[in-house]
Amino acid sequence: MQTLSAEQRRFFEQAATTYQSDLAADTGGQAYLTGRGIDPQAAATFRLGVVRRPLTGHEQYTGRLAIPYVTPAGVVNLRFRCLAAHDCAVLNHPKYLSTEGAGTNLFNVLDLKRDSPFICVAEGEINTISLSLAGLPAVGVPGVDAWQKHFSRCLEDFEVIYAFGDGDKAGGKFSSFLARETRARPIRMPNGKDCNDILRDGGAAALRGLIQ
Ligand SMILES: [Zn+2]
Repeated sequence: MQTLSAEQRRFFEQAATTYQSDLAADTGGQAYLTGRGIDPQAAATFRLGVVRRPLTGHEQYTGRLAIPYVTPAGVVNLRFRCLAAHDCAVLNHPKYLSTEGAGTNLFNVLDLKRDSPFICVAEGEINTISLSLAGLPAVGVPGVDAWQKHFSRCLEDFEVIYAFGDGDKAGGKFSSFLARETRARPIRMPNGKDCNDILRDGGAAALRGLIQ
């Protein structure tokens, strides 16, 4: 497991704070999040931001959604999502960028402290946020390749672990991988849908319905 220096922690904290305040003045970023079912209060809870005044070394993330990895010890990582209304694949750039040189962390570990007999594991940060907003404690990783062996230990104390891969082939792989790694129960997702789609289409009850 990587350990951050005090200087790195300060940098991540300053970045998250700066981009959060950039979002407050960014109607495009706010509209994107609202369209995803993430209202300003929810955005503040997860300390989401938009990179308008990039810190030194973050220039390449300008214009992107900033997603901080918040832990009890502060912000330990950030990922950046393209906010443009286009297909990133057509433009040949990644939809998500990780902080250069940073390691891989479990997203939303604060939910591990919630009083719950179960925990959800989602594919991607926005899906993790969607579950958490629906009242389902959730952690996430960007994809199956980002899973680290030691993440399993964080989930050991929960009676049940649910894996929420997307409703596609990659999502199916994600869920069966987690079933092997962590004894997770794969959740059957509607075809072509992810947790955020379900939250937007049917609200929190529709997401909660998937585990009943
Ligand atoms: Zn793009």
